[in-house]
Amino acid sequence: MKDSFGRNIDYLRISLTDRCNLRCVYCMPEEGVPSVGHDNILRMEEYARIVAVAAKMGIRHVRLTGGEPLVRKGCVDLARTIAQTPGIQTVALTTNGVLLPAMAQDLKNAGVTRINLSLDTLDAEQYHQITRRGHLQDALAGLQAALSTGFETVKVNVVAIRSLHQDWVSFARLTIDQPLHVRFIEYMPVGNGLTVAGWGSDDVIPTAQLITTISDACQEAGLGALQPADDHRPPGDGPAKYWQLPGAQGTIGFISSVSDHFCASCNRLRLTADGRIKPCLFSDTEYDVRTAVRSGDEQAVEDVLAQALSGKPKNHAHRVGTARLMNQVGG
Ligand code: SAM
Ligand code: SF4
Repeated sequence: MKDSFGRNIDYLRISLTDRCNLRCVYCMPEEGVPSVGHDNILRMEEYARIVAVAAKMGIRHVRLTGGEPLVRKGCVDLARTIAQTPGIQTVALTTNGVLLPAMAQDLKNAGVTRINLSLDTLDAEQYHQITRRGHLQDALAGLQAALSTGFETVKVNVVAIRSLHQDWVSFARLTIDQPLHVRFIEYMPVGNGLTVAGWGSDDVIPTAQLITTISDACQEAGLGALQPADDHRPPGDGPAKYWQLPGAQGTIGFISSVSDHFCASCNRLRLTADGRIKPCLFSDTEYDVRTAVRSGDEQAVEDVLAQALSGKPKNHAHRVGTARLMNQVGG
C-alpha cells in the first residue's frame, strides 16, 4: 500500500504491552508507571484481526515489541497466528532478552525469524544502572539463546549516549567470531523529558562522529578500521548503514534517527498496545483502531488503517520526541 508521498508501506510494528520487567532510564520512569487499564489494552485476538486486515492491504512484515513483548501472556501463540496470516512474510521480535532462554525455541517454532536484542553495555554495573533492575548475565544468556536457537538474524541494539562513555570496542569484538549484527542507535530524547536520566540533546552522538570514534578505537585495539559493508546488510528492511571489521562474520550498523532522518524511505506504521495506529514515531497524531476492531466490522478496521496511511506525514520536520514514552509507543 502506498501513502500520500508514494512510499510503499509494508511494515507494521506492534506493541504487545506497555509493561516491562526492566526500567531503562531513557524509556520508563522508575516508579509510578502510568499503566493502561486492562480493558483498554488490545486482546490477542484483536491484534490478530487487525493484522489480517493490514495484511490484505499490503503489510508483509510484522515486528512485535513493547514494553517487553515477552511479558505479555500469549505472545508465542500470537506470533504463530501472525506468521500464518496470509500475506505476512516475516515476524520479528524486539526484546531485552531476559526471558529468551525460556522462550527462544518456542518463538522460533512459532515462526519468528528475526530477533533484535537491546543491550546498551557489556559492563555489569553499568547495565544495572541503565536498566535499574536488570542483570547483565540474564541479557547475555538471552543473546546466547538467540544465537544458538538459529534465528535467521540476531541483532544487538545499542543506544549510544554520550554521558555513558560506553565501551564501543567490546561491542565491535562481538561481531568478529559470530554472525551477529550490532547496531548503534542515536539516543532520542522522547517523552517530554519524563524519564529521569537527565540527558538531553547533547547526549545524542551523531552517527558520523560515532563511526569515526569507533573506527579509531578499533584500530587502536588492533582490530582494524571499519569498512563499509552495505553489501553485507543483514536481511530485513532497516534504516541502518552497515560497516564491518576486517574478516568479521557480523556487521556494525548505525541508525541515525536524529541526525539524518530517513523519512523518505520510511515503510512503517505502528500499532500501540491501547489500539492506536501511529503513522510516525515522532508525531502525536494517532488513529483509533480499537473501537473499530471491537465493533466487529472488518471494513471499519480497514478504514482506520487507510486514514492512518493517508495521515502519514512526509517527515518529522526535525521534531524528535512525543508526549508518550517509548514503552508506550513500541520503540
Ligand atoms: N523491551 C524491548 C527492548 O528493550 O528491546 C522492546 C521495546 S524498547 C521500547 C525498543 C527499543 O527502543 C529498544 O532497543 C530501546 O533501547 C529503544 N529505546 C527506548 N527508548 C529510547 C530512546 N529514548 N532513544 C533511543 N532508543 C530508545
Ligand atoms: Fe523495557 Fe525495553 Fe523500555 Fe528497557 S527499553 S524499559 S527493556 S521497554
